[in-house]
Amino acid sequence: MKTTSAAGSNTTIRERLGLRPIINVSGTMTALGASIIVPEAISAMAEMASQWVEMDDLQRAASTVVARLTGGEAGFITACCASGITMAIAGAMTGTSLLAIERLPDDTGDLKSEVVIQLGHIVNYGAPIDQSIRVAGAKVVPAGTVSVTQDYHVREAINERTAAGLFVVAHHTVQYGMLSLEEFCEICHAKGVPVIVDAASEYDLRGFLARGADVVIYSGHKFLSGPTSGIVTGRKDLVRSAYLQNRGVARAMKVGKESIAGTMAALEAWEKRDHAGIRQREEAALNLWKDTLQGLPGILAKIIPDPTANPLDRLQVFVSPESRFSAAGLASTLAAGSPPIIVRNHEVERGHFFLDPCNLHPGEAEIVAERLRAILTAKDRPADAMKAPRKDSSGVLRWPD
Ligand SMILES: *Cc1c(COP(=O)(O)O)cnc(C)c1O
Repeated sequence: MKTTSAAGSNTTIRERLGLRPIINVSGTMTALGASIIVPEAISAMAEMASQWVEMDDLQRAASTVVARLTGGEAGFITACCASGITMAIAGAMTGTSLLAIERLPDDTGDLKSEVVIQLGHIVNYGAPIDQSIRVAGAKVVPAGTVSVTQDYHVREAINERTAAGLFVVAHHTVQYGMLSLEEFCEICHAKGVPVIVDAASEYDLRGFLARGADVVIYSGHKFLSGPTSGIVTGRKDLVRSAYLQNRGVARAMKVGKESIAGTMAALEAWEKRDHAGIRQREEAALNLWKDTLQGLPGILAKIIPDPTANPLDRLQVFVSPESRFSAAGLASTLAAGSPPIIVRNHEVERGHFFLDPCNLHPGEAEIVAERLRAILTAKDRPADAMKAPRKDSSGVLRWPD
């Protein structure tokens, strides 16, 4: 959308700031700006921006909306899911002791301060999840092995110092051999330990509480298409203790009135969203890309369901040498093109990437198809077409240069 800037020039904000006009077929990635915020949230944020409000009252109103949508007893909005994890864990440690809240991450020895988590759940979502635990002053107690957790691994990891069990629902975790949420809850609850669930990216707003979780945390800026934020919901005493961390470690994770209002609006928009219509548009994009790639040498494209059963599919694109590209080479050719197209490349070392249809503006699916066709049917290949995937942090280390 073209808008007219204050200076009157007919440019978009990306052009004014010198930012590349990327097309995101990667997913709701923090590094790409998280999501396209729904109009309802944008107007709520704009409307709230110039108003004074009593923040505890605003969060009380948020609690009502969160509770209605999630089935939790209470809830609140925070800066992001990672901060919600830290706050929920800190709350499980301190309860409502305001002095203990101010002392964190130090603990004078009287707090429960261990958090049990299956080893296969210690993921990285841009930062390692164990750090979200440690920031609260808690100690991470991994249970089981990377590929298998048995019931006794978790049971024996729990002791009188255990503050909480943390369970992660995500495509990032090991997808087999782990305890289910029900098994994890049963073991923790038998020892009086609350279960906190990281469900950042999960569309299911009610299921994890219904299946036994005590606190569940979502991102506001992923599937919900809200502003950058997190949503904490669940048992009222635990939600309250988590909320009180705003007077402690969560001060450094402050969420503003505009994001609280925006997230509430995004939650309410989610209730009314035309989920079937959106799914249909996503399927049309996937079919267009699949048809475009059909029959191209060395390329195989398959529509696959989301690994954690969210109601969404992606296109998995297998790239073999016959295409004269490696998966990494094709991904970086797309990213270097005009317009730059960013694919979902976290498994690129396995010879494939994904195209995610969830974050498209009108017309972008067609541009992606056209770029794919042009690149793969060209006579020549770029110099690094067959490049091997490499982990390379040198770019970020040069920031801001
Ligand atoms: C994205 C993600 C997070 C982090 O969420 P933020 O809201 O960006 O902090 C945490 N856990 C999982 C499983 C995620 O996918």
